[in-house]
Amino acid sequence: MRRSAWTVVLLSVIVLAVVAGVAILAAQRLNRPHNIILFVADGLRSESVNPEDAPAIAALRAEGVDLRNSHSIYPTLTMVNASALATGHRIGDTGNFGNTLYAGQPALPFPVLSPVVSVEDDEALGLLNQRFKSDYLNEMSLLALAHAQGWATAAVGKLGPTALQDLGALDGKGGIIIDDATGYTSSGFKGAPLAPELKAAIQAAGLDWPARDRGLNGSPGAYNMPGVWVPNSYQQDWMIEVTTKVVLPRLAKSGKPFALVYWSRDPDATQHYQGDSLNSLTPGINGKTSKAAIRNASNNLQALRDWLKANHLEDTTDIVVVSDHGFSTISRQSQTSQARLTEYRDVMPGFLPPNFLAMDLARALDLPLHELNGLEVDVANRFYPRGGGALLGADAKAPQVVVAQNGGSDLIYVPSRDPALTRRIVEFLEGQDYTGGLFVDDRLGEMPGTLPLSAIDLTGAALTPRPTIVVGFRSFLIPGCERGPELCAAEVADTPLQQGQGMHGTFSRADTHNFMAAVGPDFKRGFKDAAPTSNADVAPTLAHIMGLTLPSKGNLKGRVIEEALRDGAPVGHRVGVRRSSPGVNGFTTVLNWQSAGANRYFDAAGMPGRIVGLNP
Ligand SMILES: [Zn+2]
Repeated sequence: MRRSAWTVVLLSVIVLAVVAGVAILAAQRLNRPHNIILFVADGLRSESVNPEDAPAIAALRAEGVDLRNSHSIYPTLTMVNASALATGHRIGDTGNFGNTLYAGQPALPFPVLSPVVSVEDDEALGLLNQRFKSDYLNEMSLLALAHAQGWATAAVGKLGPTALQDLGALDGKGGIIIDDATGYTSSGFKGAPLAPELKAAIQAAGLDWPARDRGLNGSPGAYNMPGVWVPNSYQQDWMIEVTTKVVLPRLAKSGKPFALVYWSRDPDATQHYQGDSLNSLTPGINGKTSKAAIRNASNNLQALRDWLKANHLEDTTDIVVVSDHGFSTISRQSQTSQARLTEYRDVMPGFLPPNFLAMDLARALDLPLHELNGLEVDVANRFYPRGGGALLGADAKAPQVVVAQNGGSDLIYVPSRDPALTRRIVEFLEGQDYTGGLFVDDRLGEMPGTLPLSAIDLTGAALTPRPTIVVGFRSFLIPGCERGPELCAAEVADTPLQQGQGMHGTFSRADTHNFMAAVGPDFKRGFKDAAPTSNADVAPTLAHIMGLTLPSKGNLKGRVIEEALRDGAPVGHRVGVRRSSPGVNGFTTVLNWQSAGANRYFDAAGMPGRIVGLNP
């Protein structure tokens, strides 16, 4: 053969090899799972999203899958829903019954020596983990699983729910965690450890170190001083720049598929603290500062999408946008509470003080009232408990009743599980105008006027103590408000915040209707899903897309949202009502539910006439 012929053969072989190589690479690319971004806009009401106030979020919902029949998990609080989003399990399994919960005896040492702990804090999460078998949620999180399976992972955002996505990272055994506490190392305010090269990269990018605080967004005001007039942008500008300039470039360069959770503190932070509406229900959380906070979250999402586009990762990255819960405007009014009759130094005369429920109960049961740290509350001298709850009984080290304050709901624990005491509490609460709905631990037997905790999926494989009674507070429509029931809801809330500021946690549809939408290569386009979904469905759906199998201990698992996936089949769904027997004064707890497959979803629950969105 001539030399040139050899050259042709050789060249052909090379060309074939290159073609084969490209084909193999292309096949690998096809087989490689898509990247995942879970974007959580804390406290974003589904109905508050429109192209004017939230352009990026509204655009994503229109473009991809619109999950308009979505549900926050009750109690409608951040850490409750963060645990569901992280693990795909409902709360009877995760045991994260509130933002503030009773951890049992002995007292935990943080932030004060107390058996009740606020879990929106990395150190508190660490303590709970130590107490409950190194993983208090008792279920593996999607991000921890992804990290263990070789994905590049990170969670960035609000203190508490961010670290909850990957609790092992608190001990340096997980992916990247960046939150309010990043860079702080002293006991009392300490973040998850961060690799030194990440700290160096953040500084090299010209960004502040340690993490920024909330700046002007961080002060709630008082009864005689309005709260904030700016969104949480000072802090979130830092979060989003760290994400787009340092974290995402590293994840993308890792050579592995990546999973990012970004938890935007807004609009929650600003809707809680806004100063647009001091002591007035109007405009409540519909004023200009709350709208600026919705825009802040939307801008963060836009920045992530811009980065994906600039790096040619749009077509290989799925984005799910959710909120943990809805929101309502706070009412501090009651005609039945005895606690409202005292004049306190820092409460509007006639308004409910913080911890009014614990105060009313202590009086009705004739029990001494203690702060969570055990000090007795000097009620006669016009003091109310200052912490996130109270301990009732003669001995604060062995309280007869523990109240964990949680905004739109309170958790009541009777450590002895005494049915007679529990019944007295239930009957007292059935006579109060602020009580919206009542749920009682199944182990105490049927109590008239209440539904069992199992009816709302609060009984499962949880390691933490189960509340004896969960009280959801009353909600109502603000007179004169014309933006539809969900945006016009007010609720009684147990909180230090003022009337006219914002809260959530009740069983109204205003609080259970979170935002949910998705876009990306694995999702349908321009699809409106009528089937019910919840925050417990997000991790199973993402795990399915990622090709991962989430192990389970409990049975309260969410479902894969098949109908939203490309080529996914529709799912059958239906609605129903469950009613309790009548209690004192005819008090009844009614539950509106939906189902899809074996999964149940809860729209609203409580006494008819006292719950926004409840159909009796
Ligand atoms: Zn909140």
